Amino acid sequence: MIRNIVHDVIFLGRKSEAATKDDLPVVQDLLDTLKANRMTCVGMAANMIGSLKRIIVVHTDRGDEIFINPVIEKKADPFEAEEGCLSLVGTRKTTRYRKIQVFYQDRRFRKHRQTFTGWTAQIIQHECDHLDGIII
Ligand SMILES: [Zn+2]
Repeated sequence: MIRNIVHDVIFLGRKSEAATKDDLPVVQDLLDTLKANRMTCVGMAANMIGSLKRIIVVHTDRGDEIFINPVIEKKADPFEAEEGCLSLVGTRKTTRYRKIQVFYQDRRFRKHRQTFTGWTAQIIQHECDHLDGIII
């Protein structure tokens, strides 16, 4: 189900909690909402559709990928980035890393550890910030 995008910075500033199998409907809503905003959005965190659970979706060259309870375990090669956000107006500067190692679960809650680089890595970092209530 496509949900409305949250713009309330007080809500977006709250930290999200671990997702469980009960949150699978949120995964589907995130995928549907990302798809509906395809032209202006490359990734989305669950709090952007009103759910404070640690779930993000990221558009990659392999399609829309789901990361449940993601943890960025390693970061390398920092650079200064400027990012926009569907929940906010304008763009802001922040430090990102060109290479990251992420631990996460898929929608069957199988565990994965994978390295990402470049644009995909940058999107994952932006969405993981949302889970911690950090708004960029
Ligand atoms: Zn954002």
